[in-house]
Amino acid sequence: MPGDDHPARRALRRWLAHHPRPTGRQLAEAGYVVPHWPPPWGLGADPLSQLVIDDELARAGVRRPVNPIGIGWAGPTLVAAGTDEQKDRWLWPMLAGEEFWCQLFSEPGAGSDLAALTTRADADGDGWVVTGHKVWTSFAHIARFGILLARSDPDAPRHRAISYFVCPMDAPGVSVHPLVDMTGEHAFNEVYLDEVRLPGDHLVGSPGQGWELAKVTLGNERVSLSGEGVLWGRGPTADDLLAEVRASGGAPDPVLRDRLVSVFCESEILKILRRRTLSAVLAGRAPGPEASVRKAISDRHGQRVMDLGRDLAGPWGTLGGTGVGRDAEGRPAGPATAWPASTWAEGFLYSPALTIGGGTAEVQRDIVAERVLGLPRGVQRPGGTNGPASA
Ligand SMILES: Cc1cc2nc3c(=O)[nH]c(=O)nc-3n(C[C@H](O)[C@H](O)[C@H](O)COP(=O)(O)OP(=O)(O)OC[C@H]3O[C@@H](n4cnc5c(N)ncnc54)[C@H](O)[C@@H]3O)c2cc1C
Repeated sequence: MPGDDHPARRALRRWLAHHPRPTGRQLAEAGYVVPHWPPPWGLGADPLSQLVIDDELARAGVRRPVNPIGIGWAGPTLVAAGTDEQKDRWLWPMLAGEEFWCQLFSEPGAGSDLAALTTRADADGDGWVVTGHKVWTSFAHIARFGILLARSDPDAPRHRAISYFVCPMDAPGVSVHPLVDMTGEHAFNEVYLDEVRLPGDHLVGSPGQGWELAKVTLGNERVSLSGEGVLWGRGPTADDLLAEVRASGGAPDPVLRDRLVSVFCESEILKILRRRTLSAVLAGRAPGPEASVRKAISDRHGQRVMDLGRDLAGPWGTLGGTGVGRDAEGRPAGPATAWPASTWAEGFLYSPALTIGGGTAEVQRDIVAERVLGLPRGVQRPGGTNGPASA
């Protein structure tokens, strides 16, 4: 890591001296939310400068605004295809964390085979009227806008029939219904769109370009879901689990030891893949198939780590979520560790989602087979999928 004299570090220190507790808006306007984006939203920063900026912000205890679907997925698509007016209107509040975004892609009959979506957008004067049913829409209940795919030309071939819109979530005709998952959390929703009127300037790109733009969004989705924690970048890592085990005196059971070694080896491989994916993105290249390879491995890895955490915790992990490193009566067997006791039980319940969201495990393997290994298409599927987006 470059030291005190790196220009990006010096510039950020000077800026922080004037903004010791920056707001989301100040961070966004200074380019520190997405330094790798082009100006005016970012700084066009090279990979090393980005690492330096991340490091310096972390040292100063400054956190960036949280808006994963907006900043991670919708934003890059708008940068690539939005008009100047659209970028001006939507990107600043998105980057500042003032307006939260969601993604209205999946439908009850269109998940992996996303091009089968049936939500319709009918041209009406200089705008559109949208009717349909979306599902699994994360954060729709708190979002100000959603990126929306809808079929705008019933006569065109499937992949040229879809358009990409921005939908205000408070528009008349939008209704959001909660879906509670098995952890007990309400994160995703069903969304009904009943003759929702969208102005013409809410179309991104041109009519029929939606499939092409969805690929940009989904490519970035696969990168965004690839942070360090095993739950799509959040939560603990395999190293954290090993630290818990060490802190509580080790794992004498040979089967558990074997599983610990396996997750450790996987996590080392994933660290290398993550660096490759990130350096491609940071260097401004489109996320390549390595993002799919990583997702294919890391989702299963997350499930294995959480399974193992739950098994190491024994009955306490299932009954009370008391965590790894407890004795038979549920008392801590070693020094306190970094993760709350409930981490492993909750993570175990959440982890099945890993191989479904953002493109299922099977779909990721299809992409790797076709794009990386050059194998012929195996299963005759009708078109693109919410993953490969293969037109
Ligand atoms: C936590 C979470 C958050 C989500 N958030 C959002 C969101 O914000 N917005 C949004 O639009 N969607 C969201 N989704 C939905 C997600 O994108 C879909 O669940 C996913 O694309 C799979 O679609 P599906 O559920 O319809 O399953 P299906 O596509 O019906 O798949 C069912 C099974 O068939 C298999 N299968 C399907 N096609 C093939 C094939 N060609 N070859 C081999 N096997 C195949 C799948 O792998 C799977 O096992 C979320 C999902 C989860 C779990």
